[in-house]
Amino acid sequence: MVLEVRTFGDPVLKSRATPVDRFDETLARLAEDMLETMRERDGVGLAANQVGRLKRILVAALEDEEYVIVNPVLENRAEALEKDTEGCLSIPEIQVEVERPLRVEVSGCDVSGAPLRVEAEGLLARILQHEIDHLDGVLILDRTDRESRKAAMRELRGRLMTQR
Ligand code: ZN
Repeated sequence: MVLEVRTFGDPVLKSRATPVDRFDETLARLAEDMLETMRERDGVGLAANQVGRLKRILVAALEDEEYVIVNPVLENRAEALEKDTEGCLSIPEIQVEVERPLRVEVSGCDVSGAPLRVEAEGLLARILQHEIDHLDGVLILDRTDRESRKAAMRELRGRLMTQR
């Protein structure tokens, strides 16, 4: 089932998700629905906050490979940083530059509770860090430089005005 993606201004996006402790049917269905929603919206990643669930689960996709990580934890961040443009399904049509470690390892588990570990570099590393940020209530607007944030906020406010 395709879920509604929450957008900027929804307090769920500024909230911290809590760890998953029940690996049941409900969790498996949520993971499936998140994958379906990400595919439908042509996204490369989605965190549970974005579909209104405050549970620590993310999905990601890159080059035909799909990832579901429950209770993801960032480990062994590379010291090397890279700046690149990021967008977000929850902040439509806004793109800002975000600097992030080039390589990360993410540990967590799959939907059945089995431990897993993903070593990621480049775009996948960026996607996983972006989604883990969501689970902590952090958005790309909080990660970009002051000028880009101001410009994005002006754009977002302008949009809210014209919607009224
Ligand atoms: Zn996002």
